Amino acid sequence: MNKVVIVTGASRGIGREIAKKLAIKGYIVVANYNKSENQIKELQKELLERNVNIDIFKADISKRSEAKELVKYVLEKYNKIDILINNAGISQIKEFTQITDEDWNNMINVNLHNKKGCIINMSSIWGQIGASCESHYSVSKAGIDAMTKSLAKELGPSNIRVNSIAPGIIDTEMNKHLSLEELEYIKEEIPLQRIGKVNDIEKCVEWLIEDDYITGQIISINGGWSI
Ligand code: NAP
Repeated sequence: MNKVVIVTGASRGIGREIAKKLAIKGYIVVANYNKSENQIKELQKELLERNVNIDIFKADISKRSEAKELVKYVLEKYNKIDILINNAGISQIKEFTQITDEDWNNMINVNLHNKKGCIINMSSIWGQIGASCESHYSVSKAGIDAMTKSLAKELGPSNIRVNSIAPGIIDTEMNKHLSLEELEYIKEEIPLQRIGKVNDIEKCVEWLIEDDYITGQIISINGGWSI
């Protein structure tokens, strides 16, 4: 049986590209979504037209019970999970003093959760250097990095590798709040002079999956924005 991969947050952006490319490559992909049912069904249809299957499963992974349902579904259907791509994430721009308890808990619950398997966590540049008006986002991503290192040590003897990818700025809906002017300003600050593409992240995911000696690493993909 081919390797079974769960990709959380696969309905849009980075997760969608990862799920799509891995399915085309022959992995058995379970693509998780929460709100964007139309988008995930469009992806499923698009792939089916190319004779490629993708399994979809709705779960709000900020809720432990629903995350468990996702894992249960995959284990009952395929009897194993080889790879977990912990990609689902949210962002929110708010000054620290304006962040409510609910905002804080929601950020931590969606962005910071753990499971078993061969794991790739989607972190962020802000987990490493901190972002103004995004303290809860930055904390959630720094938490992912710490969890990545801890789990790598804990699960290494079981031959389970755990790594994080820390993107800089990638062209997805997560950044739709930025104006063209702001994007131009950011581009000028990036040594490679461009905004990242979902494909830049997906290539690294494939490489990490195929490797067998990299663990506990936070891999920065940011065009040199932070060196
Ligand atoms: P995006 O375009 O906004 O897509 C977010 C994805 O996460 C969607 O598929 C969404 O699914 C899913 N999601 C959100 N909350 C969820 C929940 N509670 N349960 C299940 N799925 C949920 O974001 P993106 O840019 O692709 O970001 C993907 C990851 O990369 C995130 O962890 C993000 O923090 C990280 N990242 C992104 C950037 C960037 O510049 N784009 C930079 C650094 C790090 P539904 O729509 O179905 O709810």
